[in-house]
Amino acid sequence: MQKVLQQLIELQELDTRLDILIARLGDLPETVKTMEKQIENEKEQNKIRQTSIEENESLIRSNTAKIEDLKEKTVRYKEQLYLVTTNREYDALTAEIEFNEEAVNNAEGQVLQAEEENERLREAMGHSEKTVQDMEQRLVEVKNSLEETQKQTEEEKTELEKKRSELSAAIPRNFMSMYLRVRQARNGLAVVPLIRDACSGCHNRVIPQKRVNIYKRNQVITCDYCGRFLFAPLEKVEE
Ligand SMILES: [Zn+2]
Repeated sequence: MQKVLQQLIELQELDTRLDILIARLGDLPETVKTMEKQIENEKEQNKIRQTSIEENESLIRSNTAKIEDLKEKTVRYKEQLYLVTTNREYDALTAEIEFNEEAVNNAEGQVLQAEEENERLREAMGHSEKTVQDMEQRLVEVKNSLEETQKQTEEEKTELEKKRSELSAAIPRNFMSMYLRVRQARNGLAVVPLIRDACSGCHNRVIPQKRVNIYKRNQVITCDYCGRFLFAPLEKVEE
């Protein structure tokens, strides 16, 4: 096969592998960052839950004291009922007793509600703390494996870059600059195989005369539509 064509095919393979590696390297820190953010959110939620629990506890304490106070007063009013001498005094006391009992009911309702809410909040916090624990453990594992992958990927990248610089130094300048220009303009793909008589980069049919030359593999042919270098896949040549 024509030497330049073979070199261009190899260069495209190296560049494609490098593109994939670089994309992968970029994703790694993002994965860790996402996990860290999830953990932080979960902890933030628990802080909010803790504040609500404390507010409820304070409400329970103040209402419990209030209930005790109201009940004591009610007992005293009831004792006074035996001592009243007029209907007016009697009515005033019973009204006071009813008012107090109503207030006790309200306060007891609030206490019950706050207790139920705290039970729910504590349960949610328990689940959430377990989730945080699991996530933190997983984060450590992910960080370790990412570090390892990153190291391997960096090594592979260095190796590929070395090969690439050797190869590109060996390719004639005019072909190299064409390759770079097309690769930049065509989404990273400058050298493509001919598939079913069409350029596999832009899917336009290649005219018969060009196809013949591509199959001969003795000159460098480019697509009339997208400018990519075209080559015949090996099995086609062997036929
Ligand atoms: Zn094309």
